[in-house]
Amino acid sequence: MSPLPPSNRNYIHPADELVKAMERIYRYSMTTTSGGNLSIRDDDGSIWITPARVDKGNLTREDIVHVLPDGKVEGRHPASSEFPFHRKIYELRPDLKAIVHAHPVALVAFSISGITPKTKLLAKAHAVCGQVGFASYALPGSTQLGENIAKVFAEGFNCVLLENHGVAIGGTSFKEAFERFETLEFACRTSLKCRALGITPHFLTDEQLSKASARSVELESFDSGLPTTEERATRRDLCEFVRRGYRQRLLISTEGSFSSRVDGESFVITASDTDRAVVESGDLVMIRRGKYEAGKKPSQAVLLHAAIYAKYPEIHSVVIATPVNATAFSVAHQKLDVRTIPESYIFLRDVKTLPFLWAYGDGAEIAEAVTPEYPVALLEDGGALVIGRTILDAFDRLEVLESTSEAVINAGFLGSVKPMDDAVIDELIGAFLK
Ligand SMILES: [Zn+2]
Repeated sequence: MSPLPPSNRNYIHPADELVKAMERIYRYSMTTTSGGNLSIRDDDGSIWITPARVDKGNLTREDIVHVLPDGKVEGRHPASSEFPFHRKIYELRPDLKAIVHAHPVALVAFSISGITPKTKLLAKAHAVCGQVGFASYALPGSTQLGENIAKVFAEGFNCVLLENHGVAIGGTSFKEAFERFETLEFACRTSLKCRALGITPHFLTDEQLSKASARSVELESFDSGLPTTEERATRRDLCEFVRRGYRQRLLISTEGSFSSRVDGESFVITASDTDRAVVESGDLVMIRRGKYEAGKKPSQAVLLHAAIYAKYPEIHSVVIATPVNATAFSVAHQKLDVRTIPESYIFLRDVKTLPFLWAYGDGAEIAEAVTPEYPVALLEDGGALVIGRTILDAFDRLEVLESTSEAVINAGFLGSVKPMDDAVIDELIGAFLK
């Protein structure tokens, strides 16, 4: 096996990686302080695992427990009470190096209903998580629970729903396990929001999925040279909005592409394989005259972004994201009527839903459908697309789209939405949109 290039090597100590991940899982409400445990299998066969009965909101590196191959335990706490199932999974799946176990609310809803979630809701969820397995109930911490779960992993599943409990997810790296965990919980939240609309979610066909996964972006690369000051400013501002979007739950670590124009012939875009929560200026990829910055991997949606910039010189930012409420409309194939409050209509205008395959072509149809006058669209089974004259402009519209979607879903619990009538809309157009 050839050694990994330095950019792909993991320099983070397993104990630090577990502390950071637990902070993130707790901060974004994907576990309670008592629920959930994480582990990493080290190259020597030892296992680093979160401790039993320690506040998940305040873990430090010293709290992490190290279980040696001979069973000897190093650390100031006992290992998580679920250590037996972690060990059993590693035993039956030598390829796995990390396990995430938690009780996030959307996945628990599936767990207590006995329904295994389908990841064909979104192409990315299917690509990241694969099919989900189901393990039958056993007492927490018991050998039997370990056997029930590990048996399903041994069949090849990497994501396993635990009956009346939660989920266990494995990866060949901690990053991969975390991404699967976050993406699966997101797919489940989207599915539940869709049901809140009274609609059974639409699932992608195998043909659609294979067209999505077959998308290849065959661009040539170029040596970008030293960045100008203007490019550095654009990169900095774009990264700030990507990280902010992650914090605001407008995108998850594996989904969403953001770009900003640098000048008439170039723009910078997020890479396809970076963690959106921690993206830095150097992670972005410069695209100039149809070529990409050598050594990097631009977002798979790069052609779509490029088509919009080519058509509209006044557009300086393109954002594709997956806020959960707007994405629920996109998987429901339900028209989002934004004639709700003045702000929504003024910012969003008419929100079209664009056919699934348009997002996987050269972007020409999308650049035709989304215009500076109608800058927001839903992508069928793919979230939202927003363009703007600045990155702030696009980001603002994305937030309005998400809050409008949430309000419409919530209004459904109260009765039905009474849209603003034509006279009110004409008055708004006269006052704000002429
Ligand atoms: Zn548990």
